[in-house]
Amino acid sequence: MVLTVQSTQENKTPETIIYVDSNRVKCSGENNDHPLVYYTIPEGGEAICGYCDIKFRKKDEWQK
Ligand SMILES: [Zn+2]
Repeated sequence: MVLTVQSTQENKTPETIIYVDSNRVKCSGENNDHPLVYYTIPEGGEAICGYCDIKFRKKDEWQK
């Protein structure tokens, strides 16, 4: 299961955060608009896609 959260803050561009079960994620853009890339989410942190700035976080970190 993948949960996508869109949040908008004043004077900031909307950010997309995807919460995942595994620390291995892959991204090809929201509309498959960049090459498929794989990231590993660091312990307690997040991975940010270098192409589209989508952030990936481990779901269990978010639930704390
Ligand atoms: Zn991406």
